[in-house]
Amino acid sequence: MVDDISTDIEKLTTADDGDIISGEEDMSSEKKFTTCEQKLDHTKVDDTSGNNNDNADQNIAQENTGSNLDASDICANCGKEDANNICNKCKQVKYCNALCKKKHKTKHKKDCEEYLKRAAELQEEELRRAAELHDIELFKQPPRDEDCPICFLRLPLLGSGTKYKGCCGKTICSGCIYAMQKRDGGAALCPFCRVPTPETNKEIIKRLQKRVDVGDAEAIHCLGAYFSQGMYDLPQDYTKALELYLRAAELGHLGAYYSIGLTYGNGDGVERDEKKAQHYYELAAMKGYAPARHNLGTFEWNEGHKERALKHWLISVVGGDPDSLSCIQELYSDGDATKDEYAKALRAYQKYLGEIKSSQRDEAAAFDEDYQYIE
Ligand SMILES: [Zn+2]
Ligand SMILES: [Zn+2]
Ligand SMILES: [Zn+2]
Ligand SMILES: [Zn+2]
Repeated sequence: MVDDISTDIEKLTTADDGDIISGEEDMSSEKKFTTCEQKLDHTKVDDTSGNNNDNADQNIAQENTGSNLDASDICANCGKEDANNICNKCKQVKYCNALCKKKHKTKHKKDCEEYLKRAAELQEEELRRAAELHDIELFKQPPRDEDCPICFLRLPLLGSGTKYKGCCGKTICSGCIYAMQKRDGGAALCPFCRVPTPETNKEIIKRLQKRVDVGDAEAIHCLGAYFSQGMYDLPQDYTKALELYLRAAELGHLGAYYSIGLTYGNGDGVERDEKKAQHYYELAAMKGYAPARHNLGTFEWNEGHKERALKHWLISVVGGDPDSLSCIQELYSDGDATKDEYAKALRAYQKYLGEIKSSQRDEAAAFDEDYQYIE
């Protein structure tokens, strides 16, 4: 894989524009295409339409004239105090009664409309600014994954490349687990704390539950995933799973945000809700979980926002997400990403592979596909 990519980068830097794509990698296989093109429903939410126009008695409301829009209790028409009949549209002037309101209608109309227009503009500006600030946070390059506490190499993104140990609460790479297993002739001690690996499902859950009880977010998320899939003799229970995910998320667990996103995205035991899914993917992505950001890119892609999709994928590929690389390759071959962007993505992924690769992990992967760490 690393070699393939090196070849590709070489080609990119030497070849003329355009003739890179066809490559040997299977990045452009049909399976990979689907990652960009998955159809996800999206509901556009139009936040800008206020509820300024929904008054009941529009006729009366349209009157107005006055020049002084103020919040006092003085009737804008006759000047008397204790006016409490408000202009339904702008809510800026008051009248003693409907008659005063009606009389003032023509006079107030222009002010009223101008006020509404200005308010709408301000609201739009505010939303635009909020969206800008949100984007600044969203598109920051997040921190990278942690290292294995034993070999100190970066932990791989692929699930089978790491194991969470309920004994000590450490996440350890497949290479270190396998090395220990080999050394002890299959006795399978935890390479970190030397406690024997539990042999029955019951023991596995019992040990995990202990970590859950002391508030270990990883353990809580883990148990949630087991319930979600009905693993280790647990009954499949989406509600319980979501409860645990939410608990782990409260403790800041990034994988939990992602799992909640998936729960809503798939509608697992809840009503399917793309907006909620996206919200949780964003939380996970901002904390550095690359697959969540890949999904955000896919959302944008489906909305036709190719630039935003590219921005996401350029970040998630740094986090080691191979699907993001395939999608950037897609964009590049369609002319929607530049050669530089594609080259940058290839280099980022190569860097990730360089950081996670080790002969010990390779050996483990060759021994058992449960120990694979590169997709
Ligand atoms: Zn009046
Ligand atoms: Zn008004
Ligand atoms: Zn390790
Ligand atoms: Zn341990």
